Amino acid sequence: MKLEGLSILGYDRAKPSGAPTCAINPANGAKLEPGYFWAGGKDVERAAELAQEAFTKYRHWPSQKRAGLLRRIAELFEANAPAIIERANLETALPPARLQGESARTCGQLRLFASLIEAGWWLDARIDHGDPNRKPLPKPDVRSLLMPLGPVAVFSSSNFPFAFSVAGGDTASALAAGCPVVVKPHQGHLGTSELVGLIILQAAQESGAPEGLFSMLYGPGRDVGVALVKHPLIKAVGFTGSRAGGRALMDAAAARPEPIPVYAEMGSINPVFLLPGALENSAESLASGLHGSVTLGVGQFCTNPGLVFVEKSPAADAFLAKLESLMLATPAGTMLTPSICSEYYEGVRRFSKTTGVRLLTPSGGNLKAGQASTALFTTDGATFLADESLMAEIFGPSTLVVQCGSRAEMLAAAEKLEGQLTATVHGTTEEFRTSRDVLAILETKAGRLVCNGFPTGVEVCHAMNHGGPYPATADGRSTSVGTRAIERFTRPVCYQSFPDAALPDALKESNPLGLWRLVDGKLGTL
Ligand code: NAP
Repeated sequence: MKLEGLSILGYDRAKPSGAPTCAINPANGAKLEPGYFWAGGKDVERAAELAQEAFTKYRHWPSQKRAGLLRRIAELFEANAPAIIERANLETALPPARLQGESARTCGQLRLFASLIEAGWWLDARIDHGDPNRKPLPKPDVRSLLMPLGPVAVFSSSNFPFAFSVAGGDTASALAAGCPVVVKPHQGHLGTSELVGLIILQAAQESGAPEGLFSMLYGPGRDVGVALVKHPLIKAVGFTGSRAGGRALMDAAAARPEPIPVYAEMGSINPVFLLPGALENSAESLASGLHGSVTLGVGQFCTNPGLVFVEKSPAADAFLAKLESLMLATPAGTMLTPSICSEYYEGVRRFSKTTGVRLLTPSGGNLKAGQASTALFTTDGATFLADESLMAEIFGPSTLVVQCGSRAEMLAAAEKLEGQLTATVHGTTEEFRTSRDVLAILETKAGRLVCNGFPTGVEVCHAMNHGGPYPATADGRSTSVGTRAIERFTRPVCYQSFPDAALPDALKESNPLGLWRLVDGKLGTL
């Protein structure tokens, strides 16, 4: 596949205009050819109009046909994986082995959504039969199911160039639901995005998809991205990135004459609670496990554990000493983009200057540009409780250990937390039996609770929830990973007193699709 540096507009490429921008290799600062041309207002208009036209046809595609398209994207991704991984490695400095794993996850995700829509139960088909003899009023026949919302704008992430990007979970779940997609790629991996975009284009053409089912518009978020979110034909937004970026899109969507939902997955510091019994039994292995999680992928995961709570004790001291030695011995790693790296150091500087906070791992200096060294901070419970700014995400290999004076102080700190993607508790069996107090607080704060593990590594499956109360996400009722993600791009539609022949197949009396349905309150293939 040849890179052209142009946006994808339906089955066409946008015309070049303005000066091109090259991707940067973060490992050495070199420009990567070709230059990319930003889309303009007319391109946004065209992509949205094509997407709406495509929606009128694609929403009626049978599930099997949509599933075939998703599987074809996965096949083409696999067939082109060596070239995609090579380019992604140059653009992001993520190692090939990690990218190989992410490629498998991305294809697995596409296939999971394919099998979900074939199974059909996700439609949430419900039937309540009417009763003309009911007194005092007859009961109408009422049936409902989930239907696609319309064209979706997807903002790729920086830190998952495949799994949360052009053919990632947002795109897969929107296409599975029956929605066309317009992607705003991340500027951190322009060429990777083009390679993946071309694969989707090929799969769409081979599957006979209507033009406009997929488009991809290069350009700055504040310009092309906001124009897309404001376009009246766009009906929902998927986003992964910073709180500032996600919030800007939420505000733009809310200010439209017709507001639309924005499913933004934003920052999270993923607190970890180490209960005294667990520390007593395994201080050193907890330090090793935490270190692995904090430094994985140079700390550039939304599930990175940025905050750790312990109660002061000799075991907690041993844990901290081990963690300090591991963090100090960790080599610096190249971050995804120069600006993510400078934001990381800005965060480290801010914490270092905060009264009552100690940096245990001063940087050795002489780092190459774009490289991040680890940062381990510690403070006491009182300082944490008094300073909201210590809840800010430092995106990178950094964590803050809060040494609480008592369990009550630890509980108060838990109460103070903002919404999180995850919360982790390490404890003995007995501690889990007697720790309803901690767990009850954390259930209100996080979308996923982890027991005696670490939060990095998000399984893609039916039961996964990768979401959490604001500010972790824009809407804590939704997930961006796992099959529930499809619900974000749907809405329920109800049919009252319709003749059978005029109903969608999923709601017809004979159940021609053989779906699991809720019929008069009973679940089954009725
Ligand atoms: P970002 O700055 O939020 O950018 C993500 C996407 O949103 C980009 O396409 C960007 O467009 C767009 N965007 C940003 N601000 C916008 C605005 N005001 N209006 C419209 N669009 C906007 O995130 P990033 O580049 O991936 O990383 C920056 C920081 O985000 C990191 O340092 C980290 O703190 C955080 N982050 C968090 C997560 C997470 O999952 N929690 C993941 C990645 C990053 P442009 O093309 O113009 O940049």
